[in-house]
Amino acid sequence: MATSSGGGSGSGGGGTYSYRNGATHSHKSSSKLDTHTHKPLSLNSSSNSSSKNHVKSKSLGPSSTTQRRNSTTSKDHHPSVPGRVRVAVRLRPRNAEESVADADFADCVELQPELKRLKLRKNNWDADTYAFDEVLTEFASQKRVYEVVARPVVESVLDGYNGTIMAYGQTGTGKTYTLGRLGEEDTAARGIMVRSMEDILADVSLETDSVSVSYLQLYMESIQDLLDPANDNITIVEDPRTGDVSLPGASLVEIRDQQSFVELLRLGEVHRFAANTKLNTESSRSHAILMVHVRRSIKGRDAGHSSENGNHPHSVKSLKPPVVRKGKLVVVDLAGSERIDKSGYEGHTLEEAKSINLSLSALGKCINALAENSAHVPFRDSKLTRLLRDSFGGTARTSLVITIGPSPKHRGETASTIMFGQRAMKVENMVKLKEEFDYKSLARKLDVELDKLIMEHERQQKAFEDEIERMATEAQHRLSEAERNYIDLLEKEKSKYEKDYMDSIRKLEDQLAMNQRKNEDSHIKSRAEVVYHTICLELLQWIQNELDWLRSLDLSYTPKVYSEELADLKKMLQKETLLRKAAEGEVNHLKIQVSELKMSEASRKSEILKVHKMLEEEVHQKEKLEREIAILQSQLLQLSLESDQTRHQFERDGLEKDVSSVDSLTSQVKHQQQASGNGEKPSIAKLFEQVGLQKILSLLEAEDADVRIHAVKVVANLAAEEANQGKIVEAGGLTSLLRLLQSSQDETIHRVAAGAIANLAMNETNQELIMSQGGISLLSMTAASAEDPQTLRMVAGAIANLCGNDKLQSKLRGEGGIKALLGMVRCRHPDVHAQVARGIANFAKCESRASSLGTKSARSFLIEDGALAWIVQNANNEASSIRRHIELALCHLAQHETNARDMINGGALWELVRISRDCSREDIKTLAHRTLVSSPTFQAEMRRMRISY
Ligand code: ADP
Ligand code: MG
Repeated sequence: MATSSGGGSGSGGGGTYSYRNGATHSHKSSSKLDTHTHKPLSLNSSSNSSSKNHVKSKSLGPSSTTQRRNSTTSKDHHPSVPGRVRVAVRLRPRNAEESVADADFADCVELQPELKRLKLRKNNWDADTYAFDEVLTEFASQKRVYEVVARPVVESVLDGYNGTIMAYGQTGTGKTYTLGRLGEEDTAARGIMVRSMEDILADVSLETDSVSVSYLQLYMESIQDLLDPANDNITIVEDPRTGDVSLPGASLVEIRDQQSFVELLRLGEVHRFAANTKLNTESSRSHAILMVHVRRSIKGRDAGHSSENGNHPHSVKSLKPPVVRKGKLVVVDLAGSERIDKSGYEGHTLEEAKSINLSLSALGKCINALAENSAHVPFRDSKLTRLLRDSFGGTARTSLVITIGPSPKHRGETASTIMFGQRAMKVENMVKLKEEFDYKSLARKLDVELDKLIMEHERQQKAFEDEIERMATEAQHRLSEAERNYIDLLEKEKSKYEKDYMDSIRKLEDQLAMNQRKNEDSHIKSRAEVVYHTICLELLQWIQNELDWLRSLDLSYTPKVYSEELADLKKMLQKETLLRKAAEGEVNHLKIQVSELKMSEASRKSEILKVHKMLEEEVHQKEKLEREIAILQSQLLQLSLESDQTRHQFERDGLEKDVSSVDSLTSQVKHQQQASGNGEKPSIAKLFEQVGLQKILSLLEAEDADVRIHAVKVVANLAAEEANQGKIVEAGGLTSLLRLLQSSQDETIHRVAAGAIANLAMNETNQELIMSQGGISLLSMTAASAEDPQTLRMVAGAIANLCGNDKLQSKLRGEGGIKALLGMVRCRHPDVHAQVARGIANFAKCESRASSLGTKSARSFLIEDGALAWIVQNANNEASSIRRHIELALCHLAQHETNARDMINGGALWELVRISRDCSREDIKTLAHRTLVSSPTFQAEMRRMRISY
């Protein structure tokens, strides 16, 4: 069955084929089949079944789906997959010349495409049969040739493998026809190069992928750039690490559409023609090599690496470098395979001829070596074999089409071509996915992302700063506007009321003047009336006298004279009567006038009364307004104080938060000092000047409760500023504040006043002043009645400050200060406890000073007043503000030996031992230790209790 080669050239295993697909095969079996024996084609069928494993459908390579699955499961390592070089044979139809010349002869080959066999006639009765991966008859269309020979390779390249498509055969058998036809006049005639590019361009995405092309000619061991003819000695560079071969000197043109590729091929042809003319050769003597580089970025959907956790392989956040697959398709249109000696007519010397075909014969040797599994493959013998190193025995998927002609004249060449194909079928490649991480593009992307982030950060920072500045300006602006508005309003109100007041005063004055004038007029009139009256009375008197005189006359002896006289008298009497009537009329008239005057006077009087009343009301109104102005002023003061604080708060936002400090009031003092220290002119000072301290203090005693509250707040705020404290005390503010504690029932007033007192109580002189004014009993009273923790905190803070004064110790205790302090622990608020603890620590410190000076020898007042139990209880309080003070207090108490026994009994010794061992504050720890060591009573007790110390 296994016969040796009949038509092969002298290679050892010629005519046999097998390929590595896991099992080892001997190379003895032959694909050359004896048609006469009609024996079952065991090896052929085995090769068929084997090849079926690889060759799904009709393609020459593993299907791309199989390949894809392989690449997906291969993950990081991409193990190589065995892949034999696939070989198809294509028969050219008889040309016109052959049709005539060979008319009487049969073709030298007979094809059995369904069986994938080719029979090569030896003579009329004998033939050798060879199996190929594909047998393409003279009727096979270009399309079919492409599908069978090239498409699987192109698909592999698109999947990230290297691929080679090569045509081998005698000149004139259709290599260029198969590979290089542009098919512009007839699309059905398009060759493999054009069709490959069509498929590549259809599959890639030009946004993420790139396709670039080099086109070269290899002639007499010199590589020329068909895209740039000046470039005619390109060197081959091998990567010593990967063994990858590249031609950095060759032009690399990026292809974006089919048309430009066809143009490029045409240009290549023109250059090839020109080059060959210049070199005095023919294209059949040179190898044309097209290299297509396909670089694809792998998206989540088909990236073996990144599909694992899903979606965005390019996402910078995942920090996985994008994966790129670089497939390289090499299409080689080899020089004619006919023997040189036969074509000696070309006029080359033998050396030249050898050189011309050096590459081709080197290729043959390499393929032989590979087919025989020889240890040495002479790749380095020629440029072509160096270039095709990956295509034969390398990692590429390789498909070879051998072209033969039908003419029996060229039987020898045809046979040698067939043998070349047979040997090539034995070459096993280890196809390997060319996938790599694109670290460069990741780095570039990360750089861009970083720049973006930095810019974004800077932008946000800037926006944030601008916003802060804008808010600050706006706040400043609003504040000054509010100030301005208040002042304007105040000014307006003031001037309006002043004007109204002046107007009404002026009106009243006018009315008064008018009334006086009127009064004077009526006076004159009444004097005239009196005169008139007198005249009338005198007249009446005179008439009476005359009548009396007339009556006394003796009328009986009246002579003639007498009657004349009488007549005269009568006349006179008549005259008199007339006169009298007239006078009486006049009197009546005057009387009426007088009564009229009296009436008008009464009405005027009532008017004057009314005006007086109005005047009183105006005065009352004015007082009310003045009061309101005072309230407004104090409110304004309060407001500006608050806004000052808000502003400071705002400025210091995020800085220290004063939780454990002695007192937030103290911190307020600091803020105020900061404000004045900063040289800004706080509006409080302005308003303080405007309104005046005396006035503010007087408002503390205002009847209106609101005014009092505002005033006390203002005073408290002022008292928080050390610079104001002296002035406040001088002006009697302290006395007023203490009085408020007593007189007011209002909790807010108590709280604020106590806060102010606590602030004032930081100063030694003020402490004495507070004590002398009965401050302790007032504070104790407030301490006993207050409910609000903040009030208690203020009161405790004030007493705690007083506790720190050495001179006041016994007075403070005598007036119940310590008891008051201890009484406040009923409120569970830690702030209150912290102040109590501070007071106790202050007091204990003064006592320990006194005992070390020898001015105190008796037991501590604190112990006397029963503070020890609370101290021991809270010595390990979790609030550090409480614990710290108590630890200090314990150390101070322990300084005085007189206290030692009580402390032992009260359990304080344990606390001291604990403090000396684990207090976080080194100074307190040392103090406790020193105290324990120096006290004989403690030492004795510790010995008794067997505490090693
Ligand atoms: P090679 O490149 O192998 O030297 P060519 O491709 O130049 O051969 O072909 C030589 C001649 O044969 C050309 O005129 C070509 O058109 C023709 N030819 C080759 N193969 C075929 C084919 N399969 N069908 C029709 N004509 C062909
Ligand atoms: Mg050709």
